[in-house]
Amino acid sequence: MKTMKAAVVHDFTKPLSIEEVPKPEPGPGEIVVKIEASGLCHTDIHAAHGDWPVKPKLPFIPGHEGVGIVESVGAGVKNVKEGDRVAIPWLGYACGECKYCVSGWETLCERQLNTGYFIDGAYAEYAKANAKYVGLVPKGVSPLDAAPLTCAGVTTYKAVKVSGARPSELVAIFGVGGLGHLALQYAKVAGATVAAVDLLDEKLDVARELGADYTINAKKQDPIEELKKLGGADAAICVAVSPKAFEQAFRSLARNGRLVFVALPADNYMQLPIFETVLNGIRIIGSIVGTRLDLAETFAIHAAGKTRVLYETRPLDKVNEAFEDVEHGRNKAPRIVFNQF
Ligand SMILES: [Zn+2]
Ligand SMILES: [Zn+2]
Repeated sequence: MKTMKAAVVHDFTKPLSIEEVPKPEPGPGEIVVKIEASGLCHTDIHAAHGDWPVKPKLPFIPGHEGVGIVESVGAGVKNVKEGDRVAIPWLGYACGECKYCVSGWETLCERQLNTGYFIDGAYAEYAKANAKYVGLVPKGVSPLDAAPLTCAGVTTYKAVKVSGARPSELVAIFGVGGLGHLALQYAKVAGATVAAVDLLDEKLDVARELGADYTINAKKQDPIEELKKLGGADAAICVAVSPKAFEQAFRSLARNGRLVFVALPADNYMQLPIFETVLNGIRIIGSIVGTRLDLAETFAIHAAGKTRVLYETRPLDKVNEAFEDVEHGRNKAPRIVFNQF
């Protein structure tokens, strides 16, 4: 039996273990991908710790920003071939038949299976994937750039898309980290004027470098007041994991404003005034990752040179140190990408 190196979760309270496991073989409709790069998404840490109500089945391999070269294909695979570079996203499988799937909302499929959670993920030398749910990485997009785009990119691209941001509008991005640094660029691509809100000046410097028109340090200034001075935000994208940021985002909206929820704060609740929501015609939208079409668009935008992905690389052997660094905010770049072993 062939084996491969992988980072495996055996216990939600223990570090991941780097070990030899059986190398996967593709079944019908499946492919095996030799992973070149895999991004670290905060969800991987929640998966490894079993933080969410529905927990992964142990043992499992995390990682849902996997990018690599198709090494082998199973029977019936038509959309990709050996040698193609593909991305393996969070949405590892959907039924293809329910009302969500047939209406282009496969991300809401109730029978979906998620990569690095219910399906072994990309923290390994090889990963098996359902061919229909991988994204083709265009030529000219490096695997290291493609990895964060596979979750952080597509998630924030979709959030900006559902916000309906238009060129005449002001979009506020609450939180400039792994997600926020991309969200603000998609809002710029949509033609909007962009205000970035964060608690750290270093992050706001990054936001300005990436094209933010206004930056607001919410520790030193009141973001509600500052955004109201600009006429109020027509859309606000919440990628900061704090209910307070969500409440500030709500209060910073102009009439007819849209509030898009993306981050998942551990504290699940916020205060939402009904009166102002009704009178100001506010729309609240939850947005979860993105579809296959959204991923293809995310890659096309990057291939056209319209976005920059900021990351630092680590070897996968150092996955536990990388998790700790992210949990303590010690990572220098907005995103960490493993360049495998
Ligand atoms: Zn993710
Ligand atoms: Zn479905």
